Amino acid sequence: MITLSCAEIASLLQGQLIGDNHPISDVSTDSRTISRGALFIALKGPNFDGSRFVADVMAKGAAAIVVDRPLDCDISQIIVADTRQALGQLGAAIKARLQPKTIAVTGSAGKTTVKEMLAAILSRCGQVLATQGNFNNDIGVPLTLLRLTEKDQYAVMELGANHAGEIAYTTSLVKPDVAIITNAAASHLEGFGDTYGVARAKGEIFSGIADGGIAIMQHDSEFTEYWRNRCKHLKIISFASDYKTDSDADNSTADIRAEQISLNSQGCAQFKLIYGSDEVLVQLNLPGKHNVANALAAAAAAVAVGARLSDVQLGLAQMAGVKGRTNIIELNPQIKLIDDSYNANVESAKAAIDLLASYPGYRVLLLGDMAELGANARLYHEEIGLYAKHAGINLLFTLGVLSQSASDLFNGQGSHFSSRQSMLDRLIPLITTQQSVTILVKGSRSAKMELVVQDLLERC
Ligand code: ATP
Ligand code: MG
Repeated sequence: MITLSCAEIASLLQGQLIGDNHPISDVSTDSRTISRGALFIALKGPNFDGSRFVADVMAKGAAAIVVDRPLDCDISQIIVADTRQALGQLGAAIKARLQPKTIAVTGSAGKTTVKEMLAAILSRCGQVLATQGNFNNDIGVPLTLLRLTEKDQYAVMELGANHAGEIAYTTSLVKPDVAIITNAAASHLEGFGDTYGVARAKGEIFSGIADGGIAIMQHDSEFTEYWRNRCKHLKIISFASDYKTDSDADNSTADIRAEQISLNSQGCAQFKLIYGSDEVLVQLNLPGKHNVANALAAAAAAVAVGARLSDVQLGLAQMAGVKGRTNIIELNPQIKLIDDSYNANVESAKAAIDLLASYPGYRVLLLGDMAELGANARLYHEEIGLYAKHAGINLLFTLGVLSQSASDLFNGQGSHFSSRQSMLDRLIPLITTQQSVTILVKGSRSAKMELVVQDLLERC
């Protein structure tokens, strides 16, 4: 973060400073991890009030606090109307002052992957600040903006949402030069209603684009026309994204597309990336054909802020995997595990099944519940059961409440279990008789399928 005085911060927040005018070069909303000399912003939620932790942050040496009412304590205080808004205002003010070239990424699946791809590409061109992990909400986004320094030439920001209006808010803080929607699909439907609700909410990102900016979207989504209509005042770059299956979709009119895609033994794609009259050969280190679309989206945005296609090629080639996403582990010479237990929605489950289907030998899907899919949750689980069946998956075992619908529709080799233990007791004898097995483990965060991964690591 750049250093600002308490008085400058109070002025940026239209707040009132009571107490000494300390210099501030760190801001925190978490009393547990706050550092000496930092500014503590006391957020309020339905079940907590950050101002209750002021004694803690004083004991840890905080220099000042931002609160919504004067407190009777011996620390500099900036009084504002709303501390959550203040956090956003401060992040936005720092971004506006430093003006790095900024790219914002949203979508139902692939945000973190595209963000990491962009960080890898752009770090060949200059210093990059990128969202850490999943800091993509109304708190995480301003905290990320606050980490900017004068040295950062690029900011790559992940914007997430589970309800309408959330991205409209974060994009208004970020004011990106370039914004990407990776895709829109069934996820967080309890907040969005249906997939159109998802597309509308993702579309909010384009309303924050700075004048003269660029919108990047799928060429071939059912929502492309809707998004295009929302971006009439912007330049649009479309990327082809229908690469997940072996369909012969015609992508030739997309602004950026891939040809001659092949997967290596790790399931990682190599392809010719074509952008206008330029082309370059790309080798990814991330498994799954869906990452071709992610790479095209990242490439389009990188070029939009001045990178060359050679930077795209080298940045993607040097990029390591993204933690917790489709990690491929050799359990023993016969059995490979695809650990995608980090999270699941309909789109990402299908992408992971496509990846599993690209492996030779006996293919096993261990599926936990996909959460937050609203009233039609069972139908979506049935859809995944059918998808797995048609993709040629040999065995589907499910765990949880909703996922039973997936094994019901899978027929034949689908079974539902009430415990991890019983599932693995059935699975292990079945797979040890096979010569070559690939097991995909997938489920929402709340399904805790990483415990299945742990069990497999111990028992295979
Ligand atoms: P979150 O909402 O949890 O932050 P995210 O949008 O950041 O997710 P990633 O973390 O990049 O997404 O990827 C999560 C999973 O989604 C991956 O493991 C992969 O299976 C799947 N995925 C990634 N990109 C795509 C894509 N373009 N299309 C479909 N599925 C994808
Ligand atoms: Mg993410």
